[in-house]
Amino acid sequence: MARPDTLPAPALPLTLALSDEGVAVRDWVHDFAVRVIRPAAAEWDEREETPWPILQEAAKVGLYGVEMLQTMHADQTGLLMAAVNEELFWGDAGIGLSIFGSHLASAGIFATGTPEQVLRWIPRCYGTVDEVHLGAYAITEPDSGSDVGSLRTRARRDGDDWVIDGRKCFITNGGIADVHVVVATVDPALGHAGHASFVIEKGTPGLSMGDRHHKLGLRASHTAEVVLEGVRVPADNLLGGEERLEGRMARARERARTGTLDERGSSSALRTLELSRPIVGAQAVGIARAAYEYALDYAMNRVQFGRPIITNQGIAFTLADMCMEIDAARLLCWRAASMGRAGLPFTRAEGSMAKLKAGEVANWVTDQAISILGGWGYIRDLPVQRWHRDAKIYTIFEGTREIQRRVIARAISGGASEPR
Ligand SMILES: Cc1cc2nc3c(=O)[nH]c(=O)nc-3n(C[C@H](O)[C@H](O)[C@H](O)COP(=O)(O)OP(=O)(O)OC[C@H]3O[C@@H](n4cnc5c(N)ncnc54)[C@H](O)[C@@H]3O)c2cc1C
Repeated sequence: MARPDTLPAPALPLTLALSDEGVAVRDWVHDFAVRVIRPAAAEWDEREETPWPILQEAAKVGLYGVEMLQTMHADQTGLLMAAVNEELFWGDAGIGLSIFGSHLASAGIFATGTPEQVLRWIPRCYGTVDEVHLGAYAITEPDSGSDVGSLRTRARRDGDDWVIDGRKCFITNGGIADVHVVVATVDPALGHAGHASFVIEKGTPGLSMGDRHHKLGLRASHTAEVVLEGVRVPADNLLGGEERLEGRMARARERARTGTLDERGSSSALRTLELSRPIVGAQAVGIARAAYEYALDYAMNRVQFGRPIITNQGIAFTLADMCMEIDAARLLCWRAASMGRAGLPFTRAEGSMAKLKAGEVANWVTDQAISILGGWGYIRDLPVQRWHRDAKIYTIFEGTREIQRRVIARAISGGASEPR
């Protein structure tokens, strides 16, 4: 079997420097995280609710909304969105996800929608300063998590409308969002190629919230089931339009007929996920950095046996490794974000590499931080235990760590790693 991958570092036209404007925006977001997010983090973690006052404050200063989205998209380096997410999630991951959650919906609309749909729906994901809106992006179902191709939520054409039935679970902002982007199957026999994304507005008959999930971490972010019972939407709510969907399905049927249909496919939902992975990774970097900084400060001030505990090599070397691992994770996230902006294909699954590394680093670093704080690391008065609870999700959502490894293995082996 031919060896599909080679070891030399790929030559990529990348920059690892934020623009001057990017630095200013990052510092402004950091300031918001220090002043507004951090002081509120413990309270909203306990309340386990969407922090509406903080979303309103973020909208008021321009950190939540279409304007901020445009600022991040205008950044030519592709690094700004990663840098902004690192700062937000350094502030607090639950509140960060409440602020960032709507971006998942708008990214789905941006990736698939026609220009008219983008202009129509993306602003509705954020609302206005006076009336803040939320967006939700719903793929996962009770029987379809990692195996996205098997999702069962069904969309059927009925006259001029589409009618959608199904049940989604674990949806960020699910049931409370003003705009739900729901991925459904139009032709289950085609797997990913039969999937389509629909915009469903709040108040549409048949759309409701099912059970609300109570979580280990990210508790300031709302997560719930979304129930779809005979939800009727106009044909215009099919993202990308009917012609494009029909064309894609016709090509897939032809591949199925000739025996060349790849079950794994590459739906727009999967492409959206791959591009968002370095950004999700940057969130994990933010959590890890928060825990590392706290632990470093603690180790320099906590005295045992008559000297600061950082003078013990076991503690100092752990902190050195924490610092190095965070930098390594950030570099992978920035590489993939930069490639995504330049439109370069992720031939070695660089998006998955970034998210996998960052998620594992966040888990390891927050675990080490608890140990460095000793008993205080375990006490809820201090934030380190919360950062550890928050970090865990980064080996689960947007593709579990096993699925990221599977994606990377498939890329480097040219598909030879897949069971046939
Ligand atoms: C807080 C939170 C927020 C979320 N937000 C959203 C959201 O906004 N929108 C949305 O659509 N979803 C969302 N999710 C869902 C999330 O993306 C899924 O939980 C995740 O994709 C895993 O799916 P699953 O839970 O069904 O696990 P499963 O797919 O059942 O996996 C269970 C275990 O089996 C392993 N596994 C499965 N298949 C393989 C394989 N082929 N090889 C090796 N191991 C395998 C997995 O890695 C995992 O360890 C959210 C989840 C949580 C907890």
